[in-house]
Amino acid sequence: MTPAPSAGPVADTGSTRQREVLIELVTLHARVLQRMPVVQALLVAGLALVFIDKVTAPVFASWAAFALGIEALRAVVATRVLRTLNSIDPTRVHRGFVVMAACAGAADGLAAVLFLPRLEVIDQAWLGVVLFVIPAAGVAVSMSSRYILGAFALAIIVPATVTWSMLHPEHRSVIALGLLYSGLLILVAAESERLLMRAVLIRQERDRVVRDLERSNAEVRAAQMRAEDAAQARARVLAAASHDLRQPLHALSIYSAILAANPSAATLREVGENIDQIVRSLGHLLGGLLDLSRLSTGYLTPERRLFALDAECARICAEFRSLAEAKGLSLRADLPPTPLCGDQMMVGRIARNLIDNAIKYTDQGEVSISLSRIGDQAVLAVADTGKGIEPHEQQRIFEEFYQIDNPGRDRSRGVGLGLALVQRMSELIGATVSLESEPGRGSCFTVTIPDAAPEGGPASTSVTATLIPMPAGTRIYVVDDEQDILASTGTLLTLWGARVETASDVSAAVALFERFGPPALLIADLRLGGHEHGTALARRLRATWGEFPVLITTGETSSEALRETNAAGYPLMHKPITAERLREMIGRALEPAA
Ligand code: ADP
Repeated sequence: MTPAPSAGPVADTGSTRQREVLIELVTLHARVLQRMPVVQALLVAGLALVFIDKVTAPVFASWAAFALGIEALRAVVATRVLRTLNSIDPTRVHRGFVVMAACAGAADGLAAVLFLPRLEVIDQAWLGVVLFVIPAAGVAVSMSSRYILGAFALAIIVPATVTWSMLHPEHRSVIALGLLYSGLLILVAAESERLLMRAVLIRQERDRVVRDLERSNAEVRAAQMRAEDAAQARARVLAAASHDLRQPLHALSIYSAILAANPSAATLREVGENIDQIVRSLGHLLGGLLDLSRLSTGYLTPERRLFALDAECARICAEFRSLAEAKGLSLRADLPPTPLCGDQMMVGRIARNLIDNAIKYTDQGEVSISLSRIGDQAVLAVADTGKGIEPHEQQRIFEEFYQIDNPGRDRSRGVGLGLALVQRMSELIGATVSLESEPGRGSCFTVTIPDAAPEGGPASTSVTATLIPMPAGTRIYVVDDEQDILASTGTLLTLWGARVETASDVSAAVALFERFGPPALLIADLRLGGHEHGTALARRLRATWGEFPVLITTGETSSEALRETNAAGYPLMHKPITAERLREMIGRALEPAA
């Protein structure tokens, strides 16, 4: 049903759509009203030609001034309404128009009251015809509302017919005829009002459809652009990664040729150091790529645990202190107590990357790390007095593999993933990263971290991972289908004093348990070549042999098995795993037993 622009029905319609329709109708009427003084002036002029002498000039002039005044007033109000369309109450304006239509009609009706008694019968008939025609013309003027038309028509017809019937009592039926005529006009006006309303609604609907189409087109365009950007970024990452992998592999193959040529002890030492350096930088690159992949696949979900951000930052500063001192930089830390509920690992990685960069790109002066709070957010700022970053580079440095001034891709200067990871991890934990930098004067990276509500019950405040020493003779089983990994891990653990048994598949692992019983720790690779993966194997062995600590290692970034491992709560280590990390994880795994 279409809403009627009437005082009644309109009063209880509150929807925005109906308001819009009403505003349209009110606008249409207001536009017509602006032209009405001209129409009224023509009518007055026409009546003046015929009647001014017969009804005397003062009487006619007074009426004409009154009738024109009312139309002028209507035009002024209409203009004001059109100027303030955004803030009007259309229901009130409509009511005002109804009242003004009644006044305008009454002005014409007054002509009947004033003139008819002063005219001869033939002129009375003449004026009667004119007064009956005016409301019909009003239908065109007031087609947006039957109420406006009704008020206008009745205000003319009633005084005209009543005056006529008083002058000609034998024609009293003219009153009934006049009312009937008014009723007919109101019906016609109601019909045109309905038509107009439908037209307005159709137009609004069309506008809405066009708007929706434009919006969805824009969304499609934006999604397309995002997809293109992502494809470009992937291509860039792949190109840079393959370049950065190929170079060190090439160097390694040369070093292996040198080693095969039986070099001197000095060369051997030099080659050994270089290989170590290459392997480390390869580890960084693969670690960065792995993180990027885990962040992209949405595999990493941030933890929510209470921890002391100040203690975490202090630990990271301690890691970097000797590096800063070696460069002659002072490392200043302003770390007031800042408990934070969030992902300690990610916040730590963000801080580590920023501090690493600050030291790397500062040749003199200082690097300062400070913590503060803004409301319930923690703010970490890492500032340096280094080379600074040009304004046009400040956005781009957050892209994967983007580096300034490293066209030769010298790996000793990093691989260009640090800030990309900072950005991605910040997005994941809901933090924002901002940068203020001036070339030659230094940079300040600020990370604003939201304080999330702790998940499920009181949070743990144990913040520092203390390394539990591994008791000599600790029995560790290592299960991996890669012989190289099995051999190297076995050797390293033996060097650390453990009693190590290795198995390269599921059945060999089961045999170990049957022969020696459960170990102090099981380190199992996730993919073991057969049907059963490391987590499933560990679960099965635990069911048979009772609880024992388990560490799972993997090179995968997303798989069903990985999700299962997470769900099972087994600690997970992503390859490549540094010796320090392995030591730390073993220490943690053995912690309850110790
Ligand atoms: P990487 O440090 O491995 O090159 P990043 O993604 O961490 O990669 O940084 C990208 C680039 O941003 C760097 O190559 C460096 O030019 C610039 N940059 C990062 N941090 C700073 C800093 N504190 N001062 C000056 N330049 C910086």
